[in-house]
Amino acid sequence: MKLEENSEDDCREASFSTRIISTKFAKPDVYGAIGHPIYRTAAFEFASSEAIEEAFKFGADAYTYSRITNPSVNHLEEKIKQASGAKSVMSMASGMAAISNTFLTIARMGTNIVASPHLFGNTFSFLKFTLAEFGVEVRFVNTDNLQEVENAIDENTCAFFAELITNPHMEVADLSAISKILRSKNVPMVIDSTIVPWCSFDARKAGVDIEVVSTTKYVSGGATSIGGAILDYGTHNWENNKKLEKLNNPQGLSKFVFKLRAEIGRNVGACMSPDTAHLQAMGLETLEVRYNKMADTTYRLASYLEDHPKVVKSNYPTLASSPYKKISDQLFSMGAGAMFTLSLDSKLSCYKFMNELKIIRRATNLFDNKTLAIHPESTIYGSFSPEMKKTMGIEDNLIRFSVGLESFDDLRNDIEQALLKV
Ligand SMILES: *Cc1c(COP(=O)(O)O)cnc(C)c1O
Repeated sequence: MKLEENSEDDCREASFSTRIISTKFAKPDVYGAIGHPIYRTAAFEFASSEAIEEAFKFGADAYTYSRITNPSVNHLEEKIKQASGAKSVMSMASGMAAISNTFLTIARMGTNIVASPHLFGNTFSFLKFTLAEFGVEVRFVNTDNLQEVENAIDENTCAFFAELITNPHMEVADLSAISKILRSKNVPMVIDSTIVPWCSFDARKAGVDIEVVSTTKYVSGGATSIGGAILDYGTHNWENNKKLEKLNNPQGLSKFVFKLRAEIGRNVGACMSPDTAHLQAMGLETLEVRYNKMADTTYRLASYLEDHPKVVKSNYPTLASSPYKKISDQLFSMGAGAMFTLSLDSKLSCYKFMNELKIIRRATNLFDNKTLAIHPESTIYGSFSPEMKKTMGIEDNLIRFSVGLESFDDLRNDIEQALLKV
């Protein structure tokens, strides 16, 4: 179980897909299998008491129980290291498990998290309600205002948190500028990068210390399974973290990784299953080709719809009309994801439009192979009060699209015929 350091045959020099596809097995397969076996087992046996004692030591090169680690899950983690350049990766049962385990590792009573309020619904609820009951404060800031971000930080701030592109607002924070402030104050930058995959976004270059991802989205290879990942780039010094500073004996590991692997992760128990790890490892191998087509179609649809008479606004971060174009061009090498939104003149128009769609499906989720549309205000954010919706910046005349692998022409025609009936 390699917890840190990229393996010796790290092939960062090779291209993105080659690195993922060429990721070596930790141990050679006895039958020479090309695909990594699915180790569908809860536990592992040992030849002697001494051997099992040794295996239970943290960081030992052996598996004991699949809640803690499993070879199939570990293989996916190695592939994610190759994809991202992260020093350490831990797979989780879901994106929410990645987010909650990260904050349970670094936040404690009396500390605070500085964050954008424009967040995925469950993330907002976790920070604002779940953590609040354990005495952790969340300080919402406008991430476009660097002074506001800086002013919100004090000696009890344990993290800055934001989503790479906010959903459904499509804002992009200037991570490099924020990173300078955070590094000067020794506060880690935690980013949810679910919206843009590693082939277009280099988190380490942008100053991200800890990255959380819902692998349910692009990585799963077509909505095959729920999963998440926590990535540590090894760039933050945890000595001043109120929770981790007293941690002893991390065996040379980052204190974050040690606390997460040796305590929080196994106590919370939101582990990824070996079957899911197998599906997601397959998905990761085809991610770059799928993503390139999705991102290209997304840009073309968003720009085509900008001038449509029935559309009030088409939102995508790399459109010339977006205030985030400059930052997006710096952050994203191959497009700003496969999500865009349309504002129509009213909620009623959104409903009429959605009901007329023939190819595009009405569903939540992102980055399936199938194109999906949803009205966020009445669904994902439906359970929040009007005031909360206001804080979260949720408007009722907006439709969110997640663009799949159908052709641009078919998708444009479907949207066009549905807009005609509005
Ligand atoms: C979907 C999503 C999550 C939650 O992931 P799950 O795998 O559904 O738990 C978190 N953040 C963002 C940006 C998402 O899109």
